[in-house]
Amino acid sequence: MVRAPRIDAGPTEAEWAAAVAAVRDLPDAGRVLLICHVNPDGDALGSMLGFALGLRALGVRELQATFPGPPEVPEPFRGLPGLDLVVPAERAYPDPDLVICFDAASESRLGDLFDRLGRAEHALVLDHHASNTRFGTVNLVDPFAAATSVVAEQLLTRLGGALDASVAECFYVALATDTGSFRFDATTPAVHEMAARLLATGIRPGEISRRIFDTRPYGAVRLHADVLTRTRFEPESAAGLGLVWTYATLDDLARYGQRPYVLEPLIDSIRCTAEADVSCLVKQTGEAEWAVSLRSKGGVDVSRVAIALGGGGHRLAAGFTGRGSATDVVDAVRAQLPSALLGIEDQG
Ligand code: AMP
Ligand code: MN
Ligand code: MN
Repeated sequence: MVRAPRIDAGPTEAEWAAAVAAVRDLPDAGRVLLICHVNPDGDALGSMLGFALGLRALGVRELQATFPGPPEVPEPFRGLPGLDLVVPAERAYPDPDLVICFDAASESRLGDLFDRLGRAEHALVLDHHASNTRFGTVNLVDPFAAATSVVAEQLLTRLGGALDASVAECFYVALATDTGSFRFDATTPAVHEMAARLLATGIRPGEISRRIFDTRPYGAVRLHADVLTRTRFEPESAAGLGLVWTYATLDDLARYGQRPYVLEPLIDSIRCTAEADVSCLVKQTGEAEWAVSLRSKGGVDVSRVAIALGGGGHRLAAGFTGRGSATDVVDAVRAQLPSALLGIEDQG
């Protein structure tokens, strides 16, 4: 079984101080490149754009935000403030003075943009994955933070930055995304306190949630129906805790003229299966390549499964890139489940 080192404490005061110094010591007209993980979700984009807007308000002028892969921002996020700072990966500063990474647990999540870290004087890593590989020169990794935006807000505050409504909207989208709209156990008093600070700027949570979570094209509604029809439930898998899974192909997307990100909410439609602890959504991204989402209700540490298969994530939500056919990918997941069971003492 592959066991990655796990981070079990938040940043030290020395790490916060080093991060603050890296920003404060920027030369005049220093170029700052912000990078979030491939296939960006609400936390990746929200923490990156909120922090970028905060830096701009602090007077940083040379700023770019980017992510690897096609420079396409998923439709639900196209109303986010700060998108004017986003550039395609190939146009990102080749030699930035400072690189700041958001929500990426490992180098592999940054694709070809990873080379920028070696060229900059400082590379800050802001993240909340316990599996983070600490690939920056300064690593602000808090495994107890509900979202990377929690870490980003703290750093911005330490820099003397203020929360305006634009920064707050970005951080709110990030926080709402990673807490499942304040439903998961990560929703601590501190999360609600942060949400209160963000809402106090006047942002509209109803309007934001409708746009981010509750709006999709009719074609996506039909596509979801097709994918859910082929859901399979395996009561014996995961030592009897149960596995539920389904898959979506590129043909499915083409049939309804939909983009890949419309598949993201589908994991929530299968993970509600009462009889299964583990859920798995296999989304085709290439000829024999699949983006895999894993969720658990507490019986299995799915990050162990994902790490063993080359990916990463959190105990109850993880993912990896699968190869072969959809059934090959599910076979690989099923085979890993027995070694990822959580004992009673691990649950909580
Ligand atoms: P998702 O199922 O895409 O929502 O991802 C769930 C969690 O797994 C997130 O915390 C991701 O950062 C992580 N994750 C997903 N895919 C990968 C991957 N290919 N490599 C590393 N971590 C991943
Ligand atoms: Mn993410
Ligand atoms: Mn996150």
